Amino acid sequence: MMQYQRSSSLFSEAQKVIPGGVNSPVRAFKAVGGTPVFLTHAKGAYLFDEDNNRYIDFIASWGPMILGHAHPQVVEAIKERADKGTSYGIPTALETQIAQQALSMVPHMDQIRFVNSGTEACMSAVRLARGFTGREKLIKFAGCYHGHADAFLIQAGSGAVTFGSPNSPGVTAGTAKDTLLAQYNNLDQVAEIFKANPNQIAAIIVEPVAGNMGCVLPKKGFLEGLRSLCDAHGALLIFDEVMTGFRLAPGGAQECLSVRADIATYGKVIGGGLPVGAFAARKDIMAFLAPLGPVYQAGTLSGNPLAMTAGLTMLQLLQAHPETYTSLDKKTEYLHLRMIPFLEQKGIAYQINRLGSMISLHFTDTPVEDFETAAKGNNTLFKTYFHGMLKRGVYLPPSAFESYFLNDAISQQDLDQTLDAFSKTLKEL
Ligand SMILES: *Cc1c(COP(=O)(O)O)cnc(C)c1O
Repeated sequence: MMQYQRSSSLFSEAQKVIPGGVNSPVRAFKAVGGTPVFLTHAKGAYLFDEDNNRYIDFIASWGPMILGHAHPQVVEAIKERADKGTSYGIPTALETQIAQQALSMVPHMDQIRFVNSGTEACMSAVRLARGFTGREKLIKFAGCYHGHADAFLIQAGSGAVTFGSPNSPGVTAGTAKDTLLAQYNNLDQVAEIFKANPNQIAAIIVEPVAGNMGCVLPKKGFLEGLRSLCDAHGALLIFDEVMTGFRLAPGGAQECLSVRADIATYGKVIGGGLPVGAFAARKDIMAFLAPLGPVYQAGTLSGNPLAMTAGLTMLQLLQAHPETYTSLDKKTEYLHLRMIPFLEQKGIAYQINRLGSMISLHFTDTPVEDFETAAKGNNTLFKTYFHGMLKRGVYLPPSAFESYFLNDAISQQDLDQTLDAFSKTLKEL
């Protein structure tokens, strides 16, 4: 039986000085109840907590640790670089190197700008799209997450589905009116929005494979349809590849699904575990960005040498080892196929969505294709499932609305141990 005493008392301490005890809400376990575990360290596929429990990690820091934790080459590069100073606010050759490296892996993009988070990347991409098109409105999809910038914290309003309203206090009605909401995988709705807002849509922003309502795949023709609508209406297509970039393929979803975006945003894997985001586009679009053009964007720590070293080393490793992607695919498929018989035997309603190393399990018999169907999942079951896995040493995302992210340090034995925990946990549901 696992003990959580130290985590529990550390959580109490944290709550006194940090709102909710965490620096990002999902970590607080609010969706699943119980006490979040506090980590001491992580290595390869494993997380170690303050009570000396070990977990097989299925979130990989929400994506970045695609090769497992504390990869020796990444850690070595960071250590070596730290001795040379950790921030200058003055250019380094390293920034050009990682830009070249990233652009060599990603299709259709000429230039890239580095920032410090996925949020910043998406926020800047939208500003750039607005500056480039001279238009103000943005189409986003319910259930897609693009970080916590105001323009993205929009939910479906009470009236027409596409009329957005703020889903967080602090987001103004003025901001909300410029973000138009559509249902994921619903091309007709997007076409209607374009029709109702002639010459006003600057861009569509979309997670080409959604990972923030569980894993939700684009239906055949959906992304291609968005591409055509953007072309027909002079709007830009922004792929938010913060999760999918360098994860689904070296070139992310653009490569994996063969659809071209005008602007792509990155984060997570591109920083190798340090705080990095980036956005890339064609040269004529990027020419609008300061200091070349009028669209302002900046960052004191952008291009930070420590972060750039970690990211560069990660990207080089992935390029040198393309077999990582097939290996991750196989591991995720193995998990998927062997979960099915346990679920069938239990006679429980479920949906499993998977692409590459992204996978999620929803307890519902309705296919999960958008936010509405994702929300049909039985959350009471999910809570018991999450805690059943956790106490058996498997760390899953502590919310039914998050995808699992496999890392390549997970071994065959880890997968079998996970499946054993899975079969035992299902018996308790
Ligand atoms: C994580 C995420 C973001 C936000 O990135 P942060 O680094 O957390 O700011 C944006 N878009 C997607 C698709 C994400 O998964």
